[in-house]
Amino acid sequence: MVNFDLAGRAALVTGGNGGIGLGIAAGLAEAGASVLIAARNEQKSADAVQSIVDGGGTAAAVRCDVQSSDDIDGAIAATVERFGGLDILVPNAGIGVGVRPEKMTDEDWASVIDINLTGVFRCCQSSYPHLVASGHGSIITITSMYGIFGSPTVASYSASKGGVVQLTKSLATAWARDGVRVNGIAPGWIWSELTAGLATDAGTKRRETIIDRTPMAKIGEPSDLAGAAVFLASDAAAFVTGHVLAVDGGYSIA
Ligand code: NDP
Repeated sequence: MVNFDLAGRAALVTGGNGGIGLGIAAGLAEAGASVLIAARNEQKSADAVQSIVDGGGTAAAVRCDVQSSDDIDGAIAATVERFGGLDILVPNAGIGVGVRPEKMTDEDWASVIDINLTGVFRCCQSSYPHLVASGHGSIITITSMYGIFGSPTVASYSASKGGVVQLTKSLATAWARDGVRVNGIAPGWIWSELTAGLATDAGTKRRETIIDRTPMAKIGEPSDLAGAAVFLASDAAAFVTGHVLAVDGGYSIA
């Protein structure tokens, strides 16, 4: 039998209090996992936990800034303490800074790389012993179409996401024999706070271009990521590692 069941598994989702992170956290919880949400805004995290619990799932939250190794260690410890281990890591937290490269400040560059790439590595490295102990550890990184394509205004973001693709493959090779699978999801355009500008009048032209450019002719919802995450987290993907799965309405193949 193909097994997508995540009952008894514990998941940690950084940035799981909204957008794609919450879409994935809710999906993992629906499949039976207990989910710890780790993000900075505690009210948003409490609301996210409530929405998962209201849906019949198990969830908790801790405050965590992925720029702090201590916060990451705290989130991992909280997952292990509350849910008895750590089986699934989704280092999803990410930000974007839209500015042409010739105008980008050192701070803009450094913060995006630190949160989107170094933060992912910190989470993976610190989770490693627990994922090995799990016996079926699974990491699911979140990359982007900008991990494939370039853009004139998001050089640091693209560099970080291309880095996440290669980090995913490297960790997959390093940890395959330890029983830890490492895969990624490359979302296309998804409605969230990050893309809220597309819904404004000023974003109309860009929104229409994206929709036109997407074979399925729409912008996705955070819940569109849940199925891919449940698959990659579960024993159904037991022989899948180092793969980056596009969930993009066909954007990357058109
Ligand atoms: P949101 O802005 O809705 O969510 C970002 C999340 O990251 C928030 O929950 C935020 O919570 C958290 N976060 C940001 N900085 C930190 C930090 N330093 N430490 C901990 N948590 C942090 O955007 P999305 O849901 O769209 O983005 C989620 C991921 O998906 C990102 O990695 C993004 O790059 C990626 N992505 C998004 C796409 C899209 O079209 N929306 C497309 C492709 C990839 P808080 O502020 O409370 O810390």
